[in-house]
Amino acid sequence: MLELVQQGAPDPMFTLKKIADADNDPRKVDLGVGVYRNEDGRYQELEVVRRAKKILDGLDLGHDYASTTGDEEFLRLGAAVLFGENCEALISGRVSSVQTISGTGANSLGASLIASTVPSTKVYIGLPTWGNHVPIFQHAGLEVVTYDYLDSTRHAVDFENLLDNVREAPLGSVFVLQGCCHNPTGVDLSPQQWGELAQELSTYNQVAFIDIAYQGLGDGLAEDATGLRTLADAGLEMLVCQSFSKNFALYGERCGALHVVSQKSWLAEIVKDQLRSIIRKTYSSSPAYGSRLVKIVLSDQSLRTLWLKKNRQNLLSHIDAHHIPGDWSYLVSERGLFSCLQLTPAQCRTLVDHHHVHLPENGRINIAGLSEENIERAAKALKSVVC
Ligand code: PMP
Repeated sequence: MLELVQQGAPDPMFTLKKIADADNDPRKVDLGVGVYRNEDGRYQELEVVRRAKKILDGLDLGHDYASTTGDEEFLRLGAAVLFGENCEALISGRVSSVQTISGTGANSLGASLIASTVPSTKVYIGLPTWGNHVPIFQHAGLEVVTYDYLDSTRHAVDFENLLDNVREAPLGSVFVLQGCCHNPTGVDLSPQQWGELAQELSTYNQVAFIDIAYQGLGDGLAEDATGLRTLADAGLEMLVCQSFSKNFALYGERCGALHVVSQKSWLAEIVKDQLRSIIRKTYSSSPAYGSRLVKIVLSDQSLRTLWLKKNRQNLLSHIDAHHIPGDWSYLVSERGLFSCLQLTPAQCRTLVDHHHVHLPENGRINIAGLSEENIERAAKALKSVVC
């Protein structure tokens, strides 16, 4: 049997990370994978997480199995971070929340729920997007329909195209949208556009599937949730994938949740039960450690402050100082961890091969990979490939 196994689809980010990790040159600048780093380019632990670890240590909770659907208090706190304490859907019990293996697991569980309920559902995904979106839904056996998310000439969302797809899709289709800090473009819908979108999704009876992996890394916790809160307030059926990888820098702990908003509270109970059943036969329960830390931080008002780097303005200042031709102002109007530098694949390859500046060929950089120490080198390298 095993001789019939085929190689998996290549993952450019996996390869990029391997090359960057193996590059020991002191000039290395790694702008590839989306991880916050300190001034030495190493993993950066949040001060709040450090403190929560001390508190958790004192609690000595042991290593028993977590329940299949996860820690209820963690889920309640997580849902409130997303929807806001006063959200009607939450108060009226229309939200089914379960713990997941971070954001990836939430996407995958959401896709399984859809596939096991209505296998013929079409899933609409705007491109470019996070490299795992299309494979996750296809792996669940669902048909994926793609459309252009970005009008690259204006470096803005092609909103009319999105609305056209909402209007033309079969009723009951799923629209995968990123809640904030869009990966890889850094370009989000405006609050007005979310409002219009809510209207159209409701009129055409479509289901919203919101993936929010960067809440708090854009304009602030509540601001970044404006889009999904607008959809929830419009009474839509929706699934929301929550990740604590980036905003708590807990990448390896795999901490997240899936929140499904139904239109009736009795439906929410059935949905939660179906999720329990899928989790049981796939991974049984989620890791406990990260959720324990997040619960400690979210239950304590004084620990809720999140750390945010201001690297965008800094990169623009260095670009200006080096008189690098072109309009780079989009760097500061975008939000979140990523930006797509308007470079050709050849220019990106030159940065990797000759300047130890690591980024994928689409020019997407992790803004947080820049530090006081490496930003000058990165700007000079950029100048040498652009000029
Ligand atoms: N969604 C998006 C848009 C992402 O960029 C990522 C991480 N790169 C994820 C989900 C999943 O991250 P995690 O599984 O670590 O939560």
